[in-house]
Amino acid sequence: MRDVLVTENIAGDGMDALKKRFDVALEPQLWKDQEALLRVIGAFRAIVVRNQTKVDRELIMAAKNLLVIGRAGVGLDNVDVAAASERGVVVAFTPEQNAISVAELTLGLMLSLARHIPMADVSTKAGKWERQVFTGTELFGKTLGLIGLGRIGLLVATRARAFGMKVIAHDAYVSPDSVAVADSGATLVSMDELLSQADVISVHVPKTPLTQGFIDAGKLAVMKRNVLFINTSRGEVVNESALLAALKEKRIAGAALDVRAQEPPSSGELEALANVILVPHIGAFTMEGQKRVVTSICGDVAAVLRGEEPKHFVNFARPRRA
Ligand code: NAD
Repeated sequence: MRDVLVTENIAGDGMDALKKRFDVALEPQLWKDQEALLRVIGAFRAIVVRNQTKVDRELIMAAKNLLVIGRAGVGLDNVDVAAASERGVVVAFTPEQNAISVAELTLGLMLSLARHIPMADVSTKAGKWERQVFTGTELFGKTLGLIGLGRIGLLVATRARAFGMKVIAHDAYVSPDSVAVADSGATLVSMDELLSQADVISVHVPKTPLTQGFIDAGKLAVMKRNVLFINTSRGEVVNESALLAALKEKRIAGAALDVRAQEPPSSGELEALANVILVPHIGAFTMEGQKRVVTSICGDVAAVLRGEEPKHFVNFARPRRA
């Protein structure tokens, strides 16, 4: 039997420490070949993944010796947590470790949209000097609408308040009496109020059956014409063809997307629009964020392999044996 199978590119001090103590198989391309993964998984006591590997029911049932699934990141849409719990497999993840990185990228995208920074960069490097073309808008005094006021939403709220923005938020599960909400300076409102009042809308909900296609033509139609729309959560939360139509018809002013329904996306019409900023799912990719994520997930996987409780896990399963 072997200890740890790593199916995506996960490296750093935390992984080095794990390798010293356990037998670790690094297979960063294996997520692309589910058949091969199914053939080898039975030998391992742990699997460590990012968001590409499909840790579905079939894989979990084939993983006869599995004690822990380590998800280096937050979204658990690629892990069948219910199947893992049924089999007594712990699902460890890294809920806070990259939240600051995602929040900072969100602010970066907000400023980039408001001041056309990427477009002005391309123009200037092409030898032009188009000052008035790139006249932007200030964030100061504008209303930011956050859809989802969890870990990342709260961090975005406090940062946006430092820019002098008014912050409103819609969250289906957060209590209006929450101390974290009060501290963030955000006001909870209904979805309709948020959509009709916000000048900038940023999405921070997880991908669930309820949030799939959440931002659809109906919601886009209620938004202000000057709205800047940002998604750093999950691509599937936004109906991309509805967003494309709204942008093409200039029913909203601009959009910045870190995440896409299909990743990597096939080059399409969004890529051709001047009022769109696209980045390749880099929200969590900072030196600091990655170091924290890898250290945390490797530490938690090691804990389970030693028969101890991990710090961050989503189910209450205990290892079948250590
Ligand atoms: P979180 O669980 O702390 O917060 C999510 C919030 O969404 C919660 O407060 C929850 O109540 C709310 N919510 C859930 N369903 C809702 C619904 N139907 N309507 C309204 N509100 C709803 O999560 P987080 O750590 O803040 O992460 C938010 C999102 O960011 C996740 O989708 C995660 O996958 C994504 N993420 C992206 C990156 C990236 O690289 N771009 C990195 C980390 C996380």
